[in-house]
Amino acid sequence: MRTPAGHADAGQDRDAGPEAPPVPVVQVVPLVTTRALARPLDYLAPAGIAADEVVGAVVTAPLGPRTVTGVVVAAGPGSGGPPAEDLRVVVDTGVRIPPDLVELALRVAERYGSTPARTLALVLPPKGTARPTVWVERRAVDEPARLGTRQRAALAALAAGPREASELRTSTGVSTGTLRTLEAAGLIRLAERAPEAVRAPRRGPPLTAAQSTAVTRLRAVVDEALAGGTPPPLLLHGVTGSGKTEVFLRGVEHALAAGRSAIVLVPEIALAPQTAARIAERFGARVAVLHSGLSDGQRALAYARVRRGEADVVVGPRSALFAPVARLGLVVVDEEHESAYKQGEDPRYDARAVAVLRARAHGAAVLCASATPRPESWHALERLHLPDRIGGRLPPIDVVDLRRDGGYPVSRPLHDGLAEVARDGGRAILLLNRRGEAAALQCRTCGRGFRCDRCDVALTLHRHPSALVCHHCGLRRAVPRRCPTCGAVDLSRLGAGTERLEAQVAADFPALTVLRLDADVTARVGALDETLGRFAATERAVLVGTQLVAKGHHFDGVRLAAAVDADLGLAQPDFRAEERTFSLLVQLAGRAGREGVGGRVIVQSWEPDARVIRLAARHAVPEFLDGELQRREALEYPPFRRLVRVVVTAPDPDVPVAILDRVAARAGEELPDDVLLGPVPLFRVRGRARAHLLLKTRRPGRAGAVLGRLAADESRALRSADAAIVVDVDPQSL
Ligand code: ADP
Ligand code: ZN
Repeated sequence: MRTPAGHADAGQDRDAGPEAPPVPVVQVVPLVTTRALARPLDYLAPAGIAADEVVGAVVTAPLGPRTVTGVVVAAGPGSGGPPAEDLRVVVDTGVRIPPDLVELALRVAERYGSTPARTLALVLPPKGTARPTVWVERRAVDEPARLGTRQRAALAALAAGPREASELRTSTGVSTGTLRTLEAAGLIRLAERAPEAVRAPRRGPPLTAAQSTAVTRLRAVVDEALAGGTPPPLLLHGVTGSGKTEVFLRGVEHALAAGRSAIVLVPEIALAPQTAARIAERFGARVAVLHSGLSDGQRALAYARVRRGEADVVVGPRSALFAPVARLGLVVVDEEHESAYKQGEDPRYDARAVAVLRARAHGAAVLCASATPRPESWHALERLHLPDRIGGRLPPIDVVDLRRDGGYPVSRPLHDGLAEVARDGGRAILLLNRRGEAAALQCRTCGRGFRCDRCDVALTLHRHPSALVCHHCGLRRAVPRRCPTCGAVDLSRLGAGTERLEAQVAADFPALTVLRLDADVTARVGALDETLGRFAATERAVLVGTQLVAKGHHFDGVRLAAAVDADLGLAQPDFRAEERTFSLLVQLAGRAGREGVGGRVIVQSWEPDARVIRLAARHAVPEFLDGELQRREALEYPPFRRLVRVVVTAPDPDVPVAILDRVAARAGEELPDDVLLGPVPLFRVRGRARAHLLLKTRRPGRAGAVLGRLAADESRALRSADAAIVVDVDPQSL
C-alpha cells in the first residue's frame, strides 16, 4: 500500500486512518560534484529499518543507470513525489554520521552558497581502520621476588601511572609478550579505555586576578548555555603572554566537570604545537588532536575515540569543528584573528561563524581568544580582558624611518640590535613578508621589467634555485644575463625578499646562525618543525622569514624582533590591509621578551606616521580597533554590512565583466536594499581574465542564496565560455 508521501497533509491522513504504516521514505544526498544532483532525493528506506534510524547513514543508492554513495539527511519525504519501488537504498557501512552533524552540514551548505554533497564531505567518517589503543595499568599488588629484568622494567615504567601500551613498548622496549605475562600474573591490567587516573585533569597554576575575573565570567556563560540560554559568544582579549590559554583551559575543565565535551580550534597545529601540547598535558587521555599529518589509521582512531566519548576534548584546525563529539559544552577559537579559519575553497565556510552555529545547536558556549582580535569580534562579542603579561612587560617598540635611516633592508638600528645578539647571546626574529631574493628585476638602461606570461604580475627573483618565479602560478623562468630588449647587462634588483635578508645577515654576522622560514622552505615536508626546533635550540640564532615567524609559537630568549618592511602589506587594495598589518606587527612584537628576558622590537617603515604603525608601536590594540570600526562604519564595511563576493574567471578578457554585468542587473532587482560594487576587472591569473562583483548587505545568508542561484542560472554561458564562477560569503581577502 502507498500513501501520497509527497504531500504535506500525509501526516493528517495518517492520524485519521486506522494505523496504516507510513511508507518509510528517506532523503538522500548523493555524494557527487555536479551541482544539480548534489541536493536531497527521495528513496525508500532499507527494508525492516525505521526511517529515522538511518539518518546519517552512508548508503548506496541507484541514480539513473548508476549507483552512487550518498548520505541519508532526513527521514520522511522531501518535495518530490513518492519514490518508485526500485529506488531503495542499501546501508553501506555500519558507520552513521551523528544527525546533528548532518544538520550542521546542510546549514553550512545553505549559508555559504555550497552544496550539501560538498559540506557532507566535512562530516564523513574517515576511511582508515582504527587499531584500538590499549592502556596498561599497574595493579595494587605486591611485586613477587622472581621477575625477569624486562618485567621489572615494565613495572617500574608504570610506577608513575597508567600508560599507553604502544608508547610503553617504544619508550622502554618492553614486548607485547612481556605485558601478556604480567597480565596473566595479575600484576597489570590491560584495557581499551583510559583508566580514570589519566582522565582527571591536571591542576593548573593559581590564577592571576585578571584571569580569575575572566574565568568566573566564562564559567557563568558556560553554565548559562548548558542551562538552555543563549549567552553571547565571548572574546578573550589578552596581550601576548597574558595567560589566555590558562583561562580557556579552565573553561574546558568546567565543561568537562558538567559532563560536556569541548572543541579547541587552533589555526594550524604545526604552528601552534605548544598550545596543543598544553591541552594534551592538562587533559591527558581525554584529548584527541586532529591534524593533517595523521595517517589514515590514526585519523580513524581519533574519530573512533571521539565517537565513543573516550576523547571529549578535541584540538585541531577548522575541520576539528566537525568532530563527532556528543554533548558539546564549549568551543574555543584560539588566535581568532587568523585567516586560516576561513576555508579558501568550496565550501568557503568560516569556522568562527560555524562554531557559533554548532554551539547553539548543542547548548554550548563559545570563546574566541586573541591578542589582536578582528574588528568584527571586537564589535559583536562580549569582551574579557587580560591587560598584562604574566611576569613581565611588553617589549618597547622603536620605529625606524627608512626614508632617513638608510641601509634597507638592514638599517643602522637593526644592525646594532643584531650585533648585540651576536655579542650577548639570545635569539632574534626578522619578519619580511616577501619570499625570494628581490621583488623584481629591471633593466637599468631601458627600464624593461619581467612579467609572468600568464598572470599580470612581475616575476620575483629567487636565488636557491636561481630563477624568476611567479608567486601566483608558480611559473619559472631562467634569470637572463642581459636585457632581452636592449641587450644591456645591467639588470637591477628591486626590493628585498627573505633570501636576500638571510644572505645579508649571515654575511654581516658570522657569529649568528641564520635560519629561514617561508613557503619555499616549508614546501619540504617536515621542514617547518625542523626549522622551529633548531631555532628554539640554538643560541645566537636569527629566524628570518615571512609572516610564518610571527604566529603563535613561543620561544624563550627572543631579545629582538624586527619588521624589516612594515608597510609592505599596506599597499594591497583590500580594506583589511591595515587590520592585517597591525595584527602582524603586534603579534611579531609579542614574540620578543617572553620568559623574563628583556626584549626589544624594531619596526622599519617608509611611512612611520601612518596610523597603523603609530598605534602598533604603542601596542594600542583597543585604540586601533575602535578607530578601525569607526572607519568601517563610515565606509559601510563589515561588521556594519556583510560582504558577498562573486568572482568570474575566463580565458576571454571580456567574458568575466559581461557575465557579472548580467548577475549585477538581476541582483539589483532581487536585492534592492543591498549595495552593489562593480563588476571590476582584476589582474589576470594563470592565463585567465578575472573580475569580481561585491555586494554589501545586511542579510548575507539571503544574499548568498540569491547570488548562488543567479550564478547557477549562468551555467550555460559559463560552460560555453570555459568560464568559472565563485560565490564567497564573508570573503576574507579581496
Ligand atoms: P597567551 O596565551 O596569552 O599568550 P600563555 O597562556 O601562553 O599566554 O601564558 C604565558 C605564560 O604564562 C605561559 O608560560 C604560562 O604557562 C604562564 N602562565 C599562565 N597563567 C599563569 C598563572 N596564573 N601563573 C603563572 N604562570 C602562568
Ligand atoms: Zn603567473
